[in-house]
Amino acid sequence: MISSVAKAPRFGSGRAGGKLVVDGRDETVFRKAQIAFKPAGARQKRSLLALLDATRDVYNAGLQERRDAYRHSSQTRIALFDQFNQIKDLRGARDDVLVWGISPLRWALRRLDEAFGGFFRRVVAGETPGYPRFKSFTRWDTIGYDETTGWRLHLDAPTRPGNKAAARTFRPHLYVQGIGSIPLSKSAIRQLKRYATRGGVPTTLTLTRINREGTAWRASIGFKNLAVETPRMAPTAGSVVGIDRGVAVLLATAAADSYTDDQGQLLHHTDDLMTNLAALGSQIEELQRQRSSRKKYGRAWRQLSRRIRRLHRRQSNIEENWARHTAKALVAQHEVLVLEDLNLQGMTRSVKGTIQEPGKNVAAKTGLNRALAEAAPGRLARWITVKAESAGLGHRVWLVNPAHTSQQCSACGVIDAASRVNRQTYYCGACGWYEHADTNAARNIRARGMAAEKAWAAAGSPPLTRPKPRLRRRNPLQTAEPAAA
Ligand SMILES: [Zn+2]
Repeated sequence: MISSVAKAPRFGSGRAGGKLVVDGRDETVFRKAQIAFKPAGARQKRSLLALLDATRDVYNAGLQERRDAYRHSSQTRIALFDQFNQIKDLRGARDDVLVWGISPLRWALRRLDEAFGGFFRRVVAGETPGYPRFKSFTRWDTIGYDETTGWRLHLDAPTRPGNKAAARTFRPHLYVQGIGSIPLSKSAIRQLKRYATRGGVPTTLTLTRINREGTAWRASIGFKNLAVETPRMAPTAGSVVGIDRGVAVLLATAAADSYTDDQGQLLHHTDDLMTNLAALGSQIEELQRQRSSRKKYGRAWRQLSRRIRRLHRRQSNIEENWARHTAKALVAQHEVLVLEDLNLQGMTRSVKGTIQEPGKNVAAKTGLNRALAEAAPGRLARWITVKAESAGLGHRVWLVNPAHTSQQCSACGVIDAASRVNRQTYYCGACGWYEHADTNAARNIRARGMAAEKAWAAAGSPPLTRPKPRLRRRNPLQTAEPAAA
């Protein structure tokens, strides 16, 4: 998955270097199912909110303890497992917290540990990070389980003989200790069953509060051991595609060496999709105008904000769908997919402005359409990685050095910023080659990917080793203690 990008092995050097992020040898993958739910009743809602409060308490108490220790002259660091052991001391003293079991409390401490891990890592790297902060109600919205204790997914009716009545009234549900049975929607059941039939084993769970009132929630269930989906049609062996993800043109691809048989392809949104996005955009603007004359945080203001949020979500869903379908089509056609390694650039872009408008704070003033466009590259990269990984079949995904891909001539290799005449046209001053600037870039990306492939093959095509998922880190000390209250 894209989370392992930072640690991906490099092949090739200099400009031709690339990171391999998918090697197509996985037989199983890890996937999360996201489902929306509403608490079964007022009581369930209250206990969910109470659990959220309890885990926040644990987080803040753990933080307090570490702060005190850090301020102490010895600058002692308190390890995660010291704090885990203290959870046991809650018995007798805070039995109210233990009705939910130990797992969600541990999850909160693990999150604290990660916050400190990040903090110390950045200190060591010479940065000046902010010290981890106490969580207020609004900054703590998730209950989590890294282990399979304290919750269980019931998708099939119990098959115990003599229990026919129970089987008849059975409804698939998510059982959470101290919370009860959370009902699942039809579409959620469908998705979860699909994962289960692919051999998926539910391993992690998070419950996220969507609104302040606690009436809308999202559950995310992580499945391990999901078999890769074998597509109906395999892509052409050895087919390599270079993908340039732009702001103006969403996607340009180049899939062939020969300049005569493939001029590359530009993939835009369809007209329908553009119309929908534009319509939503103008609705949003209208509501924002209405909101500006209201009292901030007043009743009407909040109501309008809610409607605006909903429209934003619809727009982003449309984009997400487009990215998913485009990624799927690309993966179906090509064995090797090459993208630019835009991580860093993407991060700085929102602050420093785009290439076209350097120095302006884009995020602050441009509005949503720009924000959507800015998010598109990351979205596509994520989906291409996910789809290639799920398809197995020897698919490889490369992230290559993005330097000068738009200024280099794909025919003769000369780098000259002046050759990029305008947004659309690349006209090489050295050899006279011309084509659409974005497909020219896609061709360069493809060439870099092929160079990286070559270096990888020369190294004996080593399999990709992924870092272990961070949530499954285990300490032998910890398994010794009882799993649930
Ligand atoms: Zn040239």
